[in-house]
Amino acid sequence: MNRHFEASNANKSSIGMSWVTCYVGLGSNLENELGSPVEHLQQAIVAMQENKQIRAVRVSSFYASAPMGPQDQPDFVNAVVGFETTLTAFELLAFCQLLEQQAKRARLRRWGERSLDVDILLYGEIEISEPQLTIPHAGLHERNFVLLPLRELAPELIILNKPITDYPSSDDWTGLKLLKLN
Ligand code: ADP
Ligand code: MG
Repeated sequence: MNRHFEASNANKSSIGMSWVTCYVGLGSNLENELGSPVEHLQQAIVAMQENKQIRAVRVSSFYASAPMGPQDQPDFVNAVVGFETTLTAFELLAFCQLLEQQAKRARLRRWGERSLDVDILLYGEIEISEPQLTIPHAGLHERNFVLLPLRELAPELIILNKPITDYPSSDDWTGLKLLKLN
């Protein structure tokens, strides 16, 4: 009886601690005193690995991509990180924004150069559509610099009831190059 009671309590507390599989997209095309674009991504990945509410971190290859907005800016370095987290979606957004601040991100112009951009792509299977947080990420479906690394990490992924392989951009190398890191 006692043991049963303890077991059911343990189950209850594990409900509050459930781990959700998430994917975030990283991008950088601005060097600053804290590092190069590749180093900005690497520092964000280390911070994710060190967060106690994040586990099972997996990182895609790093890609160079042609800029999406203004063309008079350097190519971006992009990667996708997959992990499990006990953070809520909004807590994860705050953590992503903290990482951007730590990279001394400044808002220069829309879709312009930045030392670090961290976007939540997917948070389990939930859908949120608020200006502050849209999940799945609004640009996810058409951005090859997101879908290609995401497919590399999770080739079986279903996004909004559709296999990732059914999204043409997940196999479109236009403007993309695999970065070889030493
Ligand atoms: P972008 O990534 O489109 O270049 P920003 O990084 O400047 O733009 O983000 C602008 C706003 O987008 C942020 O203040 C954030 O609240 C909001 N936002 C909405 N959905 C998401 C998401 N899935 N991940 C990250 N930010 C998001
Ligand atoms: Mg962003």
